Amino acid sequence: MNTPLIELKGISKTYGRGELATTVLNDINLTLYRGEFVAIMGSSGSGKSTLMNILGCLDKASSGEYYLQGNNVADLNRDQLAELRRDTFGFIFQSYHLLAGMSAQDNVAVPAVYAGLSRPERQQQAAQLLTTLGLADRLANKPNQLSGGQQQRVSIARALMNGGDIILADEPTGALDSQSGKEVMALLSQLAHSGHTVILITHDPKVAALANRQIEISDGRIIKDPGPSLVATPSPLPTSQRGQGSLAAELIEAVRTALSALSSNLFRAALTLLGIVIGVASVITMLAIGNGSQQEIVQSISAMGSNLLSVRPGAPNQFGRRTTSTLVAADMQAIKELPNISAVVPEIGGSATVRFGNLDHSPEINGTSADFVRARLWPLAKGTFFTEADEQSYATVAVIGQSVVAALFPQQEPLGQYVMINSHLFQVIGVMSAKGASAWGQDQDDVVFVPYTTGGLRLFGQQFLRNITVSVNEVEHINNTEAEIKRLLIARHGGEDFQIRNMSSIIDTVSATTQTFTWLLGSIAAISLLVGGIGVMNIMLVSVSERTREIGIRMATGAHTRHILQQFLIEALVVSALGGALGVALGLAVTAVLSIFGIAVYYSLSPVLLAFSCAFATGLIFGWLPARKAAQLDPVVALSSE
Ligand code: ADP
Ligand code: MG
Repeated sequence: MNTPLIELKGISKTYGRGELATTVLNDINLTLYRGEFVAIMGSSGSGKSTLMNILGCLDKASSGEYYLQGNNVADLNRDQLAELRRDTFGFIFQSYHLLAGMSAQDNVAVPAVYAGLSRPERQQQAAQLLTTLGLADRLANKPNQLSGGQQQRVSIARALMNGGDIILADEPTGALDSQSGKEVMALLSQLAHSGHTVILITHDPKVAALANRQIEISDGRIIKDPGPSLVATPSPLPTSQRGQGSLAAELIEAVRTALSALSSNLFRAALTLLGIVIGVASVITMLAIGNGSQQEIVQSISAMGSNLLSVRPGAPNQFGRRTTSTLVAADMQAIKELPNISAVVPEIGGSATVRFGNLDHSPEINGTSADFVRARLWPLAKGTFFTEADEQSYATVAVIGQSVVAALFPQQEPLGQYVMINSHLFQVIGVMSAKGASAWGQDQDDVVFVPYTTGGLRLFGQQFLRNITVSVNEVEHINNTEAEIKRLLIARHGGEDFQIRNMSSIIDTVSATTQTFTWLLGSIAAISLLVGGIGVMNIMLVSVSERTREIGIRMATGAHTRHILQQFLIEALVVSALGGALGVALGLAVTAVLSIFGIAVYYSLSPVLLAFSCAFATGLIFGWLPARKAAQLDPVVALSSE
């Protein structure tokens, strides 16, 4: 006999601290050799399972040393211990510890997943092992479709999957009827004969009698040990297969596991999904609406012309009632003489009742100049606009908008007709084309244009202008022109009793404001995505606590911390990615429906990508915590959970 396979020196195990501390194992010294078939006996509560967990590296001793093949186990980290369990040990438990959602074949194959074997390889090997153990026709059965004896045989097959040099069996027959118990014991004897080291834990002396060496333990101490049984040079075990699993294969496996875990609780998964779907869809819809209305507003302002300056009466920064009587027609004529001016359009106005026959209507009356059409880029539908000559002769002519046509001339041709405005007769000489509602929802077609001279004299009884719109030739110099108009008017009025607005700067301001609005909408939607993420976290936490035993089983069969982390993280990511994709689809569909109903929407790729990646990130961030919780579980604690 050469080096011992297992050497325990003064192993003790104490649970709890202080007053509550109970010492379960006390100064255990034990030497086992390769190929031995050992039974550890003792009454219930004597510490057998605790000893087995320490032997199988599922748990650590409180003190003492454990040498496995001459190496001190205390020097190994979590992952090295996982590899040890994977490569060296095979566990058989009283309650089988099979994964309920998986077939017998998949259960047996679990350890090979962590050994990096490809799926076909491990399926084939698992089938072969099960066939050897007499379960060839039960490969696809789930654990609850198998008898106790059959389940225990599945767990023996699993213990052998990666070789199972050392088989640790904790009361393997404890839950079985005597016939099945005998069969399982026969299998274990057979394994011992074929070279496996078998450590059998039992409280039953009859079962223990089958082993070559009976060790008795009582109250955490070894009270009887006949010493190493002589073993004929053990026959070498076939070397188990070891794949060089690629990360890709590992991820595919993890996605597969995630999908089957999710499908095992479809309703819950669907609810979690819904949270993400709603979050993503609302981000997309809100951004589309926000961007759509921004574009609409900017477009309608730009349609007035970005080359416009608007001069209004009243000092800048003057609150409350402004002086409205500062701008006069002469100011307008003076501005016309400045360079870079293409048109100057005055506005003097108010509302008045317009009458034709027995029909009444009260549109906006706008006194303006012949330049209006050119400056505002607003063509006529028919007839003509008034001319400079009309202005000078105080002509009583009017050009009417489409809403006025509809109100006063439902059947008749308006051109050439006379309408009564404030008891003056005006002849309709033109009809404007339809303009529609302004960005502020005002009907721009409900208007009558008259020469500003006529309007001032006959309709409004005053000559002060409400507004002068100046259009410039070269937009790049609009700021210079603005400054020159300001200088000119200050010189004329002896003070700044007017204000000038620059259309292009208004457009900038408006788009900045609506951009803020868009972000506001987007962030409200993002909050719903966040709530969806919290849903993912919630479900993952539930999933981790529900599946703690599964985690323990996976760890016992060799899963690294990384594998467990990966498995739960990928589960969270699958939910979020699926939710993200469905959410994108829903968001685009809702947006499309809204645009059919005439709501301005605008969608581009970036909000879609943004929303999807937010969903993905949500899964990553909110899945991380539960996944880490799972990965950091102690194998023995996880295994003993219900
Ligand atoms: P056996 O397998 O021989 O029946 P165990 O090794 O399972 O006994 O338990 C031995 C003793 O240790 C028992 O008294 C049990 O109550 C106690 N024990 C086991 N696990 C824990 C634990 N996690 N915390 C506290 N006490 C424990
Ligand atoms: Mg026990």
